[in-house]
Amino acid sequence: PAPSASNFIRSIIDEDNRTGKWNGRVETRFPPEPNGYLHIGHAKSICLNFGLAQEYNGICHLRFDDTNPEKEEQEYVDSICESVRWLGFEWGTHLHYASDYFDKLYECAEYLIRQGKAYVDSLTAEEIRALRGTLTEAGENSPYRERTIEENLELFRRMKSGEFPDGKHVLRAKIDMASPNINLRDPVLYRIRHVRHHRTGNTWCIYPMYDYTHCISDALEKITHSLCTLEFEDHRPLYDWVLDQLADVVPCHPQQIEFARLNLTYTVMSKRKLIELVEDGFADSWDDPRMNTLAGVRRRGYTPESIRLFAERIGVSKADSWIDMGVLEDCLREDLNERAPRRLAILEPVKVIIDNYPENGVEDCLAPNHPQKPEWGNRVIPLSKEIYIERNDFMESPPKGYFRLSPGVEVRLRYAYVIKCTNVVKNADGEVMEIHCTYDPGTKSGTEGADKRKVKGNIHWLSAIHAQQAEVRLYDRLFTHAHPDAGGQDYKGFLNPHSKKVITAYVEPSLSRVQPEERFQFERHGYFVADHKDTVPGKPVFNRAVTLRDSWGK
Ligand code: ATP
Ligand code: MG
Ligand code: MG
Repeated sequence: PAPSASNFIRSIIDEDNRTGKWNGRVETRFPPEPNGYLHIGHAKSICLNFGLAQEYNGICHLRFDDTNPEKEEQEYVDSICESVRWLGFEWGTHLHYASDYFDKLYECAEYLIRQGKAYVDSLTAEEIRALRGTLTEAGENSPYRERTIEENLELFRRMKSGEFPDGKHVLRAKIDMASPNINLRDPVLYRIRHVRHHRTGNTWCIYPMYDYTHCISDALEKITHSLCTLEFEDHRPLYDWVLDQLADVVPCHPQQIEFARLNLTYTVMSKRKLIELVEDGFADSWDDPRMNTLAGVRRRGYTPESIRLFAERIGVSKADSWIDMGVLEDCLREDLNERAPRRLAILEPVKVIIDNYPENGVEDCLAPNHPQKPEWGNRVIPLSKEIYIERNDFMESPPKGYFRLSPGVEVRLRYAYVIKCTNVVKNADGEVMEIHCTYDPGTKSGTEGADKRKVKGNIHWLSAIHAQQAEVRLYDRLFTHAHPDAGGQDYKGFLNPHSKKVITAYVEPSLSRVQPEERFQFERHGYFVADHKDTVPGKPVFNRAVTLRDSWGK
């Protein structure tokens, strides 16, 4: 792998290794909640956590933060595992689940009660909110705050045994209702939820809160550096408070480090909004190639390498910023420029007849699979009397500076001959139906003297009798606005009506046998992938991953 640029997290780890704080151990985790599909923002966190572990010969855990049973499902667990693997990462010997720690979390809660650091509150959720105070005003103590340890233990055990309905009591940390940090105003640690959990079934009817669960899970897994996004910065004092109280009963106290989340233009990044896009029919599915879910970008044609390159290139910092979608697209172009074989495709065909070409004649033309990689060899492209070219490679009355085909003008058929347009046949609407040309037999590419003839245009083509039809889906950005959800606007007002166009194109004969997920550069068009769901033998479907150059807004 390429040497990684330094960043403030690497500096912290280097310093810890220098002082021996963790005896050289680096253990990170990626902790998604299994309540939806991962998106490109998660990829930043995955590449960071798994990447650092790799770099420092450590381990990164994949841990499901599954403490919200209402919203969680096995389907999401499976798709998250698939996406992490697809990105190229491994998670050690087994998966981790916060729900594996429910017993331990419960024991820690009883421990906190016995230390006088937690109490059962019987106020309603609204009453608790009302007493919490504001940024400028201190909160007030609950009337239940001074319950005895015995009473708290008894009530908490009864909460656990299912005696109370949802919302009747909660367990709260006893910290400081006047703290300037609202997260420290006696946060709720446990609530009653009579809901079946996707892993623990009906064993529990009380579930621990995120802040409480997260730090203890980190400690139990002996995580060294717990990386999270900036919005958790003011949760860090709570993270540290819980682990300080539990110092005698958990194995270590990981360091929480915050970094800026990924914000990407022309997209929305929250699971809730992504769900809406699918449910309201703006996207076809979770893995619609226009979605920024990892399943979606994969289907669009993104490679794991391009996403890892993107993560490395945007780096990590402490300040929120926006990354332009063009940066992500460029990473894909760079990667596919290296790895994608070249092929020809005619997206909007018009027929050309080479009048002086032998009737029924067919000959092979050789085209390199990659212009910079001779070792990839050549492919054969058959030429015959009737060919297709792109409709926009011909103009009857071209403006100045148009170097492609027009009446009386010569162009080179890429990998073949120089042709000259002699006349055109139009239909009643004036639309060009056929273009008649002559070719010069002495100009075949790769033969001696071929390039003596200087012509400006160089266009691609396919033999009409050999070309294969294929469905091609031309995708573009899903939104027309760089910040579709900024400023309280409804992001759905900025959907791009032209984000998907399905056409039937002509492709090289060999492409009828592509494997799902094979990627190509269609010369002069862009990078395309054989759709991994809809491609069947003999019937390829191609998705445009990205155009050759950034043409957005042009
Ligand atoms: P969303 O708000 O989209 O639902 P989330 O943060 O609730 O996402 P989690 O499943 O809790 O989703 O996230 C798992 C991890 O991914 C967390 O550590 C979180 O910080 C990180 N993450 C989520 N979104 C981004 C982002 N845009 N950039 C970087 N990291 C992110
Ligand atoms: Mg979350
Ligand atoms: Mg969220």
